[in-house]
Amino acid sequence: MKILSDKRRPVQFIFAGKAHPQDLLGKEIIKKVVHQARSEGFRRKLVFVEDYDINIARYLVQGVDVWLNNPIRPMEACGTSGMKAAANGALNLSILDGWWPEAYDGSNGWAIGSEEEYDDPEYRDRVESQSLYELMENKVVPLFFDRGPDGHPHGWIEMMKNSMATICGRFNSHRMIEEYMTDYYVPAGLAHQILGENRMARARELRDWKQKIRSLWKDVKILDLDLPSGDTVALGEDLNVTARIQLGNIRDQEVVIDLCHGRVEGDSDVMVKRSVTTMVSDGTEHDGVWVFKGTVPCRETGIYGYTIRVLPFHPYLLNPLSMSLVAWG
Ligand SMILES: *Cc1c(COP(=O)(O)O)cnc(C)c1O
Repeated sequence: MKILSDKRRPVQFIFAGKAHPQDLLGKEIIKKVVHQARSEGFRRKLVFVEDYDINIARYLVQGVDVWLNNPIRPMEACGTSGMKAAANGALNLSILDGWWPEAYDGSNGWAIGSEEEYDDPEYRDRVESQSLYELMENKVVPLFFDRGPDGHPHGWIEMMKNSMATICGRFNSHRMIEEYMTDYYVPAGLAHQILGENRMARARELRDWKQKIRSLWKDVKILDLDLPSGDTVALGEDLNVTARIQLGNIRDQEVVIDLCHGRVEGDSDVMVKRSVTTMVSDGTEHDGVWVFKGTVPCRETGIYGYTIRVLPFHPYLLNPLSMSLVAWG
């Protein structure tokens, strides 16, 4: 109420959206918003627009100054509407969920809270609402009303430019369509053609192979991972890694060994910005055990962690994760 009814710096919230028919909590929230919007003192300051659809969304993204998105982490699938808002010059004020952790850089909008997960939902709501109110009162509203002698909000315009410059080129339907096409549709189309030839001969082959791999996967085990002695590597050098991997009756060509590496934060064993390089078999086998070699390029200073994983590989298997089989080192 205090934020909404400041005489010098008034704020208006416009809500729009639909809850899925089975989303009882969502429907309850909308009911509350509608009720509040009709109550004394909130009229005009809190507005609910009914029947949200793509046309109403078009007017909203064009007309608003700030796009507020406050999902419960990690439930936001994507947050496409924030990209539409950015394309129209609106600034995003959002929980770091969906696309926003990728796009937010500190200068192109605001992040509500941090990327923490909470066990207690009530505590989470308290922390995040506090963060939202603080951002509104101390950052968003003051920046909007801070006008230069020419009447323009220069800090705000700066942020709009940052937002459009950093977001529109990366988060748009051109890239989406292009990546769907090159990463999924074209490979799937080609696979359909190849697998379908000769009355599905290759599809049958792939099915049999999958059955075999599923029954043999229990024997897959990473036995050891060898590093050169000493735990410090000079900058610019490559770290050569050798792994002995037990595959049982699976052959080296039927798996892919990923060497995952990246900087670790402090004492944690959580990798930030993980990179993956593929290890190569040296072709020798003893009792179902194969030797794979790989390198970790050391191009930055810091503490690095690494691990390896084994995934099934077949030339007709489009996605190695699709079989839900993985062995971690
Ligand atoms: C953009 C849009 C959505 C998706 O909104 P998100 O915030 O990405 O979930 C849903 N409905 C309509 C009508 C839209 O225009």
